[in-house]
Amino acid sequence: MSHAAIGTALLNAEGRFLEVNPALCHMLGRDEAELRGLSLQEVTHPDDLAENLQRVAEIVSGEREAFQRELRYLHVDGQPIWGQVSMSCLRRGADGLVIVQIVNNTEAVRQRQALADHDHHYRLLADNVLDVVWSIDLEGRFTFLSPSVQRLRGFTPDEVMAMPLEANFTPESFRFVVAGLEQARRAAQEGRPVSFEAELEEICKDGTTVRTEVRATSLFDEQGRFVEIVGTTRNISAQHRLREELRISEERYRLLAENARDVIWTMDPDGTISYVSPSIELLRGFTPEEAMAQPLEQMHPPESQERFRRFFRELLDDTAKGRPAPSFRGELDYLCRDGTTIWAEVIALPVIDAQGRFEKLLGISRDISERKDFEQQLLKANQQLEQLAITDWLTGLWNRGHLESQIQQAIARSERYGEPLSLILCDLDHFKTINDRFGHVSGDEVLREFCRRIRMQLRRSDGFGRWGGEEFLILLPCSDATAAGALARKLQKAISATPFDPVGTVTCSFGVAERRSGEPEDEWLLRVDNQLDAAKTRGRNSVVVA
Ligand code: GH3
Ligand code: MG
Ligand code: MG
Repeated sequence: MSHAAIGTALLNAEGRFLEVNPALCHMLGRDEAELRGLSLQEVTHPDDLAENLQRVAEIVSGEREAFQRELRYLHVDGQPIWGQVSMSCLRRGADGLVIVQIVNNTEAVRQRQALADHDHHYRLLADNVLDVVWSIDLEGRFTFLSPSVQRLRGFTPDEVMAMPLEANFTPESFRFVVAGLEQARRAAQEGRPVSFEAELEEICKDGTTVRTEVRATSLFDEQGRFVEIVGTTRNISAQHRLREELRISEERYRLLAENARDVIWTMDPDGTISYVSPSIELLRGFTPEEAMAQPLEQMHPPESQERFRRFFRELLDDTAKGRPAPSFRGELDYLCRDGTTIWAEVIALPVIDAQGRFEKLLGISRDISERKDFEQQLLKANQQLEQLAITDWLTGLWNRGHLESQIQQAIARSERYGEPLSLILCDLDHFKTINDRFGHVSGDEVLREFCRRIRMQLRRSDGFGRWGGEEFLILLPCSDATAAGALARKLQKAISATPFDPVGTVTCSFGVAERRSGEPEDEWLLRVDNQLDAAKTRGRNSVVVA
């Protein structure tokens, strides 16, 4: 600041301006003549007026030789002017004179104030953020540490500053720190800035460790000289733990997805498969890439396709309307590369995001072809068992039990439709003799051949079963006595016309009866039995129609 910029004035004992220089006039925004008429009262900041007048009084009284102080004055526009004020005495006593010199310090004060504010803010920030703010020199000595370090690690800033740097970190993390300092030293020598970011493990006062994320950068002054390294340390234990858990669960999930026979998949809201595990190839023969490119039509046969589509439509609809999202659980068959199909048990769960929107469908498809095969076998076995239960083991015809139930059904049907219904009961003639002469095995063979010949003459709708021993019953829907009698005579011929091997000619007697309207079953059966008896009585190998 040049000498001419120093405001100078001559004051009397009351503080009135007697002489002023241009610098002071400029400083206070007034002209010389104006200022000469004024006293300190008019140009001093009210807060500093008392002190100002007091100083003048002290100087003129000789209490003080000289005085230097920072005091506020007022510009003509009302703005405060910070002045570095020095006063000295020219003449003592009631008519004393004081020389005042004022250096305009306003800008410097403002800067200092700003700096102080800034510093205050900075401290406030540093003290209150959870992050630890610190600075360190190139030798690894902390020059500042915010109090939050205590919250992070239990040590006070002073304690940390007093301990060797090494004691702050786990050995592995300390190696990182040493490498970072070395890098910073080299960068500082070359005058280039450097910044770091690292995840460290720091030691706490209680002996535990804490995961931290450290960011640091080297600080240079205006002349480009390295000052120190400043940085922040943040506690990331929670994130780290979460991340670690996520990583483990993802790993587990991935392992599960890639090794299990179960196929894990995700489907986007637009219906495309966004992920499918490699096990899809085991299930369907397609690679994950191929499977992901397939539309639903290439994935499932029509029925399963429609089932899944229905679910998916419902899911989109429900989530769009804010209703709870349904999940899918069921069996779907898939189309395989080799053209076959395979059954899978499918569980699909909707993933809903924080806003309640449907994000994707997470599905598991499990191969149940073995179970399906087993079920198929069981079904077949059951059918066979059922068949067995209604079948005569020797001839393969209906057994008596099934015949009876078929007769009941036929009666009901014939009554409903008003159609005729007839029975033929036939019994092999002198079968005892056949057994006696040729043996039971030949007798069985005759029975089987007999059945074959009869069956050849029947329609699909006719019922044919073994009534007992060598006695058989034929149930003829839509046949009256005439038709039934004609059939019986045809059967009689089919048996008697061609000899049986090895027993020779076999004959058979037939009783025929059409059911009368409303006739009870047992009466009808009795009637047909009577006709058979009549045929036997008539000399066998004959037909008697009721
Ligand atoms: P009829 O002309 O009066 O009917 O004389 P039949 O000898 O045929 O009559 P009977 O009732 O006296 O004898 C029936 C015989 O049929 C007796 C029985 O051993 C035989 N039989 C019944 N069921 C079977 C069978 O499943 N296999 C064999 N081989 N014989 C059977
Ligand atoms: Mg017989
Ligand atoms: Mg018999």
